[in-house]
Amino acid sequence: MSDCLFCKIVEGEIPARVEAETEHILAFHDINPVAPVHVLLVPKQHVADSAAELTAEDGPLLGELFELAARIAAANELDEGWRVVTNVGPAAGQTIFHLHFHLMGGWEAPQP
Ligand code: 5GP
Ligand code: ZN
Repeated sequence: MSDCLFCKIVEGEIPARVEAETEHILAFHDINPVAPVHVLLVPKQHVADSAAELTAEDGPLLGELFELAARIAAANELDEGWRVVTNVGPAAGQTIFHLHFHLMGGWEAPQP
């Protein structure tokens, strides 16, 4: 059995507030949001520990992920703008080593 938290969320072993999904991507709300809207987009398969491992072969998966991000942004009316971040390694703040992207938005004012 996988010891990865996000694999367990994908498998339904750990509950999460799911926002949306596609065939290959699950999007759920961050348990500790740092923006009014803070959704994590994760490949359902543990294809990489971080973005550092991605290759050209992952292009279609990333396209699917960003298409879903835009759909979630529209559904949450983030018309003024939104941000996608991925942390690579502990120094950047990565704590879960299953590739994921933070979709954030909904602020009252422009962000630095
Ligand atoms: P990282 O720091 O690796 O870039 O992002 C991991 C994110 O996962 C953090 O923002 C953290 O709040 C979130 N997180 C950690 N554990 C859980 C959990 O059990 N459920 C959910 N929904 N998010 C989690
Ligand atoms: Zn995993």
